[in-house]
Amino acid sequence: MRRNPMMFMIRNPAEIVSKFAICPEPGCMVSSGVGDFTSMTIRTGLTHCTNHVSLTEVERKFRQPIKSESMTLIFYDIELSRDGDIEQIGACTESGQTFSAFVKTSVRTNSSPFLKRITPEFWAMLAEEPKVTFERFIEWTKLQHGRNPNSDGKVEGIMLAAHYGSCHDHVHLLRTMMKWGITPPDYTLVDTLAIFKTVKGMSQNAKLKTLVNKYAPWIDHVPHDANSDADALRYVTMIAFPNTKMACHAFGISCGTFMSRTGLNMYMPSPIVTFKHPNTDSFLEPRRRSDTNESETSGTSVSTV
Ligand SMILES: [Zn+2]
Repeated sequence: MRRNPMMFMIRNPAEIVSKFAICPEPGCMVSSGVGDFTSMTIRTGLTHCTNHVSLTEVERKFRQPIKSESMTLIFYDIELSRDGDIEQIGACTESGQTFSAFVKTSVRTNSSPFLKRITPEFWAMLAEEPKVTFERFIEWTKLQHGRNPNSDGKVEGIMLAAHYGSCHDHVHLLRTMMKWGITPPDYTLVDTLAIFKTVKGMSQNAKLKTLVNKYAPWIDHVPHDANSDADALRYVTMIAFPNTKMACHAFGISCGTFMSRTGLNMYMPSPIVTFKHPNTDSFLEPRRRSDTNESETSGTSVSTV
């Protein structure tokens, strides 16, 4: 598999800072290293911040010839627990194939309206280990790409689109994958909020709920349910931008470049160790060790995953 060199982990913060993209407008200090609204366009591959975005550049990006039929577009949304762990992920393709998962979090502090209602017993049955969820998600995205008859099979051809993804969903998705020892595939990451704001006008309210009322008022949308948000995003993006893949591609960035622009490639997951109970074959809950050099606990076999 081809590896994007931007994904290699770097330890020195100075090297990271030099990779941040800064808005070239004189006097503007907006940098891709800071995750807020103004950096959204820089984080999706444009040169300027959202205050100084150049329509000429946007038009040029729209005119770039892409083999859009070979790309596979996937809309997704994540919900975080109050502790900031991913507790739910929902995704769907343009044609409506869906992926859905509830994810175990360190402490159950659900904020999604669906998860809040379910009992602890049902929750224990439904929720998956994060590593399982995100490996399954990657497999599912590749399966969808494989089903695209025009796909060239390259993972860059998979566009993952999320609303405000550049400052929220993509960051949490990639960080969670790395935390669980999964190297993120070199997806093309798309921010649909950047598309709406740049193309339809910065003054337009582009909250997902507002967009649903405007473009697809007939759909049954449950805000903050990841499945419903992903499906709603599919409707509003496809209706507002009939050349959906072209629009998404213009506001897409390679995962590796995104990681270096945001400093995510500095992320150093501490190794997750599993402690095997000496008397049984069962493994205790994975624990995170703060110091990788500390001596092994005697009487317990330790394996680093
Ligand atoms: Zn600027």
